[in-house]
Amino acid sequence: MTRLPQCSLCHGDLIMSVVMPESDAESWPLRLELCAACDSGDVARPAAGILLQFFADGAGRDEARAEEAAFLVLAWMRECMAAHRPGPGRDRD
Ligand SMILES: [Zn+2]
Repeated sequence: MTRLPQCSLCHGDLIMSVVMPESDAESWPLRLELCAACDSGDVARPAAGILLQFFADGAGRDEARAEEAAFLVLAWMRECMAAHRPGPGRDRD
C-alpha cells in the first residue's frame, strides 16, 4: 500500500488526497488535500469539516454509509475547486 503524501501546509498525515484532471496556474495538476489539523473548524469550508467528522466517526469503513461518503467527498471536492477558481468576472479584464 502506498502512503498518502504529507499535508503541504502542516506536514502531518492527510486523511485524503485527490489529484484532479485540472491544472493550477503553473500547470501543475491540482491536488486536493484533506487534513484533520488544517481543515477542521473552518466556517468558510463546511464540507471539509463534515467530511472530517464523517471519517473521525469511523463511517469511512462502514459499507452501509458508502453512498453518504460519495456525496460528502463530492461536496468537499466542489468546495475545494470553488476555492481554486477565480470568481465570476475576475478573469474578464
Ligand atoms: Zn495540515
